[in-house]
Amino acid sequence: MTGRLAGKVALITGGSRGQGECEVRRFVTEGARVVVGDVLDEEGKTLCERLNQPEHVATYVHLDVRNAHEWEAAVGTAGRDFGGLDVLVNNAGVLSMAGVEAMTEDEWDRVTGINQKGVWLGMRQAVAAMRDRGGGSIINISSIYGLVGSPGSVAYHASKGAVRLMTKAAALEYAAEGIRVNSVLPGIIATPMLEGLSAEQRKALDTVTPLGREGTPEEIANVVLFLASDEASFVTGTEIVADGGYTAA
Ligand code: NAD
Repeated sequence: MTGRLAGKVALITGGSRGQGECEVRRFVTEGARVVVGDVLDEEGKTLCERLNQPEHVATYVHLDVRNAHEWEAAVGTAGRDFGGLDVLVNNAGVLSMAGVEAMTEDEWDRVTGINQKGVWLGMRQAVAAMRDRGGGSIINISSIYGLVGSPGSVAYHASKGAVRLMTKAAALEYAAEGIRVNSVLPGIIATPMLEGLSAEQRKALDTVTPLGREGTPEEIANVVLFLASDEASFVTGTEIVADGGYTAA
């Protein structure tokens, strides 16, 4: 097996579509074997079936990242199917466009449960498995909206800001064990997540992005791949912003 991730086993949440799906494909191309966790079961299974030709390189598991038991099963699958776990990409996430007063308690709990608690549960489950391998790499997907504000997405900002500092805290906690923990902060990326926005809203976001366009899932997968690989062996506790210059001003 050759490639930048040759011999590594990864678990990618939210891997059925969007950026996660792109990361799954890229990781497999680079020699990794991947467990794909999501709540979109049909899409995830179809993706893995297509990748598993001619050999078994990807397994789909139903994983709602808010559920500790499903995390245990997903990490167990990585061990059973592929022999262990080296890389976790906490990519699953949901956008919510409710502002401070429009936000309900249920919606707050849903968004923070997936985007924030899910990341903690994933790290908690993964570190034990990584310890068995003598180290690993955890990549948490935050957002530029964890760095700067915008009106009308209070729970999303709260959760993505939390992911940045959970990442740093975990990096310090596990550095001595060779487990690196970093976050990626994408800007506006063309995925199904943006389908709720109007054409005018998307055009307005292009105008505040200095590169003048949305990013592609491939452009984020490139960053995640770097952090997952041994090329990033001295990189931990930090964040990489990939936003076409959105937050530079
Ligand atoms: P997407 O909506 O296409 O994909 C999100 C994936 O997460 C889906 O496959 C979805 O089924 C999965 N998911 C949702 N709830 C889940 C749950 N409870 N358990 C497991 N999986 C669940 O969006 P995307 O753009 O690919 O988003 C990937 C990550 O990037 C998210 O964390 C998102 O917040 C972040 N992000 C996206 C953008 C953007 O502009 N698209 C910008 C910054 C950050």
